Amino acid sequence: MQPDAFWPVFTGVILTPWGLAVLGLCVGSFLNVVIHRLPKMLEAQWKLDAAYTLGHDATASATAPVAEPDPAERLTLSRPASRCPSCGHQIRWYENIPLLSWLALRGRCSACGTGISARYPLVELLTAALFALCGLQFGAQPTTLLWCGFVAVLVAASAIDWDTTLLPDDLTLPLLWAGLIAAALDWTLPLPDALWGAVAGYLSLWSVYWLFKLTTGKEGMGHGDFKLLAALGAWLGWPMILPIVLGSSVIGAVVGIGMKVTGQLREGVYVPYGPFLAGAGLVVALAGSEAVLGWMGWA
Ligand SMILES: [Zn+2]
Repeated sequence: MQPDAFWPVFTGVILTPWGLAVLGLCVGSFLNVVIHRLPKMLEAQWKLDAAYTLGHDATASATAPVAEPDPAERLTLSRPASRCPSCGHQIRWYENIPLLSWLALRGRCSACGTGISARYPLVELLTAALFALCGLQFGAQPTTLLWCGFVAVLVAASAIDWDTTLLPDDLTLPLLWAGLIAAALDWTLPLPDALWGAVAGYLSLWSVYWLFKLTTGKEGMGHGDFKLLAALGAWLGWPMILPIVLGSSVIGAVVGIGMKVTGQLREGVYVPYGPFLAGAGLVVALAGSEAVLGWMGWA
């Protein structure tokens, strides 16, 4: 491709809602890997860290030295190649095409016929839809890709929080820094709005957490939630913090009550708050803060 042909293709094909939807399918396919593997990678790392800490403890000096895991056997985002969890069949490249492969295989492993969760194509479709909406909201300009990155991290963080009730720092902290840097480079919103958004996001949930803990003795949310709302504040600005908290609480309460009524919520089981914070953040990002201020009656 000629260099001067790049820009029209970039803005006229890739940055259109349809182009972004195709990109979203591919990114969604990668997010499935992140959602599946990142919690396992973190758990392996924590176990190793804990073993080192205990192994170096003076009272445990008699224990054998901590065995270093074989680097070739370590799980990473790129290795090993995906396999069927049931029969070990290695997924071939043409069985790994977003959405299409799942449809062509009718949701079954080609070797053993075990069902493949519909969540894989659903994550791909969700990411595609959200990328297309970014295209509609932000137009055919390079910063739209930045917002697609914002969306992708939120999808992965929400799914991991839903599965494990953990919001990994490896997702929330880079999202927070990226939001501040994007604002400093004048790509998103004025830097003071982003900075105070991050501060307000962190402190608002931190205060709710301590208020709840001091009055009831229970922990109502995890520290990951503070960091996630700080990141949303850095991308969306301090005026959006209250709408996000209100919106996510209402949706979270409705879903929580729904799960209780339908018997999906067992006593003492924690409903993660992260997916609702992320959902509210996505609504604010894709509707635009002007619209949100209007809904709140502040405009
Ligand atoms: Zn199989």
